[in-house]
Parts: sequence; C-alpha cells; structure tokens
Amino acid sequence: MHHKGIDKLHDLHYFGEFGGVNPSISDSSTYTFLSAKTMFDTFEGNTEGCYLYSRHSSPSNLYLGEALAALEGTEAANVFASGMGAIAGVVMQICNSGDQIVSSRTIYGGTYALFKNFLPKFDINSVFKDITNLKAIENSITANTKMIYCEAVSNPLLEVADIAALSKLAKKYGIPLVVDNTFSPLSIPAAELGADIVIHSLTKFINGSSDCVAGAVCGSSAFCLSLKDVNDGAGMLLGSTLDSLRAASILKNMRTLHIRIKKHSENALFLASKFEADGLKVVYPGLASHPGNKTMKRQMHEAYGFGGLMTVDVGSLEKANALMEMMQKANLGYLAVSLGFYKTLFSAPGTSTSSEIPLEEQKAMGLSDGLIRFSVGLDQNIEHTYQKMKGCMQRLGILASDSVLSTS
Ligand SMILES: *Cc1c(COP(=O)(O)O)cnc(C)c1O
Repeated sequence: MHHKGIDKLHDLHYFGEFGGVNPSISDSSTYTFLSAKTMFDTFEGNTEGCYLYSRHSSPSNLYLGEALAALEGTEAANVFASGMGAIAGVVMQICNSGDQIVSSRTIYGGTYALFKNFLPKFDINSVFKDITNLKAIENSITANTKMIYCEAVSNPLLEVADIAALSKLAKKYGIPLVVDNTFSPLSIPAAELGADIVIHSLTKFINGSSDCVAGAVCGSSAFCLSLKDVNDGAGMLLGSTLDSLRAASILKNMRTLHIRIKKHSENALFLASKFEADGLKVVYPGLASHPGNKTMKRQMHEAYGFGGLMTVDVGSLEKANALMEMMQKANLGYLAVSLGFYKTLFSAPGTSTSSEIPLEEQKAMGLSDGLIRFSVGLDQNIEHTYQKMKGCMQRLGILASDSVLSTS
C-alpha cells in the first residue's frame, strides 16, 4: 500500500519572496492592514489570507501546518511551541470541568503528569487502562467521557494501539479518538486508520536534529479553526505559539523525514534482532516476540518499518547506568532523553522520561529497572555499531563473552 501523505507532502511547492526555493520566513509579530474594515473582519475570523498577529497565525506556521496535514492526511493542522503545548491545547479545547478522559496507561511521562496531576485542578479526570485491552477501554467509558487518548506506539514500552478498533469504539460513543503519533510518523497512518485528532511532538523524528521543541495537532478544519478562535481557542489563548524561524527550519528538516525514518527503522530492526538472538530481553514491534507485532503489521506502511525505538532489559539499574555511560564514552550515542536524533540516544525510562509514573504503576505496566530505551540513530554501518555495543555488554557481564568473536 502506498503512502498518500508522502505524495501530498512532496507535491507541496513553495517559493520564497524573491524566487527562493524555500518559503520566506515571516519576521513579524504583527501585520498591517490597508483598510480598517479588513482588520475588523479578521478579528471576527472571516478574512481568508490576511494575517493579524503571529500568536494567531503566521505564514511560516501555516506552511508547516499544511505540510503536517498533508503527511497525516487530515484537512488541517496547527503547530505549537511544543508537543505538550499541542496536547494541553487539545485537551483544554475539548474537555470541560466534570469531564473524563479514557487514556492508555503507557503514555509519555509529561502527558501522564498533565492528566494525572494537573487536569484534576479543573475537575478533568483521567482513567488509565491497558490500551490493547479493548474491553477495559470500553468499560471505562462513561457519560462524562470526552475522548479516548493513546499513543500509536507507546512510550516507552512500545505497545501498539489498534487504531481502527479504537476508532470504532470511539464512534460508537460519539467521542473523538486522539492519537499521539510521535513515535511512528509515516509508519502508522493514524488519521487514515480512524484517529480524529493526531498529535505530534515535532521535537522528535519530524524535526530530527534535536535542536528545538515544537508540536502539532492534525485534524478537521473545524477543530483546527476552533483552536485558533480569538474568543475561546486554546491554541490562541494558552499561548504556546511556535516561532516562525523554528517553523521554517522544521519544514526544511521534514523534507527528509521519509529517508530518515527508513534508516532509523532498518537500524533498529537490525539491533533488536541481534540482541534478541544474543539472549537479551528486547522489546521492538518488529520482532515476532512483540505482542503488538501483528497489529503493527496490519496497520503500518511497510516501507517505513517498525520505527527507531527499542528497549533492552539489562537486568538492573546499575548495569543499565554502567552500560549507558560506557556506550557514551565509546561514541556510540548520547546518554540523553528524547528521540529521533541522527545519533543514537539512550536513557533509562524508569528514572527519566517515565519517572512521573509512580513506582508501583511502573511495575504493573512492565517498566522494569534495567530497561534502557534506545532511539537508534542513522548509523551507516550498523553491524559495526552492533559489535561495539556488544563489546560493552560483554565487558559489563550483561552478555557472556563468546570465544568466537566476530571480526567484522
Ligand atoms: C516528547 C514527547 C511528547 C512531548 O513533546 P515536547 O515537544 O517535548 O513537548 C509527547 N508525546 C510523546 C510520545 C513524546 O515522545
């Protein structure tokens, strides 16, 4: 099956003000009007093609939004100053006091903290369930439920949500399915599969150079416009506006997303297969041993693979820490949170990105102490990387030293 979004993205063709091959960056916070009447109409939200103030919209942000809508196959997309800005905007737009969110229990730590600790201040409460258990999800839906929330491939355990089945469920109850697709751009066509709203942290794969923070919401024109409403739009009023310079640089990086994702996936599959064969406990959706492998295969675009994230359990936090330090010293990657960078990034989720999740809950969801999350980089010679990583693991006794060390 061919990816329609990538064709649409490639067909987007912008010229700069002086015929440049990149669109001009709008270097202004505010915009002039030739007539006072047009300014009034723009405030009312009914003048197409006029800019008012850059917190509302700017040419650079609209270009990037258009590209993201093309990628996800939605009518529209709005960009935000961060992934959390996008998530908070969506939730605050849809939920009123007294409402409830039915959420996957394995979600990004920041999202979990927002839902669990912050939103209850506004009497918006969340229940956290195993997203692969459709019965548990359905049983949690009440008259107050305003959305089903999940990640297409979850952080950090890489659980795969059955988006088509969840969408059916959401439709049955007349609520939107909101999917954070940060881990699986291009691989999983979330909107095509039935997600009503697709969120991205652009900070990760879509930008791909770990030099900025940004987010996006892809959805219907009506929803995206409502977020921008000057009177009651969460995007407009909560103020997490992306800067135009950043929007422009992200758009440029996005042009190589398809090539990068293929390489991230190819490298991650290689390492995951090798380490599993070596006897380590590896979690990667591309492995037959992964419980979400079938679901992933059913809904993915094969050309883009199973994604760049994998986890390896090395037994204990001490070993995990020692291995990460050793790998960093060996220039194999960086001991850092986040993902989607050209170099490999590794971190222990229990003590970093998922530390917002209480220990008992971490245990219940299978987040063990010795878990290392790898965002596998774009290494050209991944066999060489594998041999070096394996050497580190052998030195630390995580893997037994084999007598027939490969020389490749
Ligand atoms: C990083 C991340 C976020 C938050 O995005 P920021 O850009 O850091 O605000 C949300 N969801 C997932 C899955 C993420 O990995």
